[in-house]
Amino acid sequence: MKTVIVTGSTSGIGLGIAESFATAGYNVVLNGLGDAAEIETTCGRLAELGAGDVIFHGANMLKSDEIADLVASTEKHFGSVDVIVPNAGIQHVEKIEDFPIAKWDAIIAINMSSAFHLIRAAMPGMKKNGFGRIIAIASAHGLIASPFKSAYVTAKHGVVGLIKTVALEGAEFGITANAICPGYVETPLVSGQIADTAKARGMSEEAVISDVILKAQPTKQFVQVSQIAALANYLASDQAAQITGAALPMDGGWTAQ
Ligand code: NAD
Repeated sequence: MKTVIVTGSTSGIGLGIAESFATAGYNVVLNGLGDAAEIETTCGRLAELGAGDVIFHGANMLKSDEIADLVASTEKHFGSVDVIVPNAGIQHVEKIEDFPIAKWDAIIAINMSSAFHLIRAAMPGMKKNGFGRIIAIASAHGLIASPFKSAYVTAKHGVVGLIKTVALEGAEFGITANAICPGYVETPLVSGQIADTAKARGMSEEAVISDVILKAQPTKQFVQVSQIAALANYLASDQAAQITGAALPMDGGWTAQ
């Protein structure tokens, strides 16, 4: 039975990915912030979806030693780490001259450096096993930019570069590394962003949804969490062994423009 770690899986995209791996019978390690009782309920619910076991590790993605422990504890508990999904992320929308330095540091650490720490810790075990799947949740903002998102766009471009490098280092060991680059997905992260973008651009929230978000995506539809989860499951499969070093957009055509 294979084991997957999904960082930031107490909410949104990460939770949807964890659900789909649980349904596929993987052992799942949940991670993220949130209420302890709610997280316990989520672990129980996911365990009922498939044959695997579901545990929680509360590593803070700001802390490299806790991320290393997330991998070490998983290897100890389940025997191996087969798939990692660096997904945890935060956002802050503000023009660069007013962008709080603490927010820059936190976004670079959580959205980019935590992926490095996770991959660094998991790589030796994956090399030893001759198998590994690294599936980073980057963003369309790993491929293109929007104003007022300096830290986020920088971090996501960094994740795409990291994934390409790791793909080359893992290629001869049965390890693939890819980045999924979603457009706008309706999650708590985006709900907060709608209000912040409205403030930064001096627009109503309704206008942000129609003129900023849906304007960016030619399909005029949000990406669904389940669609990202399905791609992540495919990338983890044997059939995806020759897809590596790719940054795959799932953005309703946004980055085709
Ligand atoms: P979300 O806010 O619903 O979930 C974020 C998760 O990260 C939560 O589980 C949260 O607890 C966790 N997290 C935050 N800080 C953490 C920390 N310090 N340590 C551990 N966990 C932490 O957001 P989401 O929309 O599901 O975003 C998930 C990922 O997808 C992010 O990397 C985001 O940039 C990316 N993404 C989102 C969208 C979108 O439109 N929602 C689009 C493209 C990419």
